[in-house]
Amino acid sequence: MINIVLFGPPGSGKGTQAQNLIEKFNLKQISTGDLFRYNMKNDTELGQLAKSYIDKGELVPDQVTTDMLIEEVKKPTESNGFIFDGYPRTANQTEALEKIVKEVLNSDISVCLSLVVEDEILVDRLLKRGETSGRVDDSNEEIVRNRIKEYYAKTAEVAELYKKQGKYVEVNGVGGIEEISQKLIAEVEKIKK
Ligand code: AMP
Repeated sequence: MINIVLFGPPGSGKGTQAQNLIEKFNLKQISTGDLFRYNMKNDTELGQLAKSYIDKGELVPDQVTTDMLIEEVKKPTESNGFIFDGYPRTANQTEALEKIVKEVLNSDISVCLSLVVEDEILVDRLLKRGETSGRVDDSNEEIVRNRIKEYYAKTAEVAELYKKQGKYVEVNGVGGIEEISQKLIAEVEKIKK
């Protein structure tokens, strides 16, 4: 089984690269942000609760997020493992994930892959995307810079924990899509038993 925690700041190409890894290794992606958005769209109780935090740009409480993740991990799947996207975001969630993967899947986190892209390139990419996507949070330089800053502030403690376990791998996220994809695949191949 391959279980990947995928890190990447906004604009790093994480979505595209996650898709490549999913296809290559037959993985199931679990994105807590997507799950919250789905629940908000369907106006579920969980969605209503999450919305009160998400709209303010705050993290949804750990317990709520972790319970939702457990439900998703427990669903039967034909995949060879998981890509965790947007989770864990706190030290508490990192410990919870380790326990869930052990207890539910009888496995462990294989690697934490982190796409590295310089801030100035991220700002440039996001503002360009904003010109065509109409996404409000991609259209203003100050907001874009703040999202990047927030990302690093939140993920720092999680990265530290994976570094301590020797599971943290940085991959240069600047270059062609295919080239970056090959580098990520090579890292996964290294840990595949
Ligand atoms: P994302 O699409 O991953 O940027 O997530 C969108 C929003 O959902 C975040 O700004 C948080 O409010 C919430 N969220 C997603 N994942 C988590 C998580 N692991 N812990 C707490 N809140 C989360």
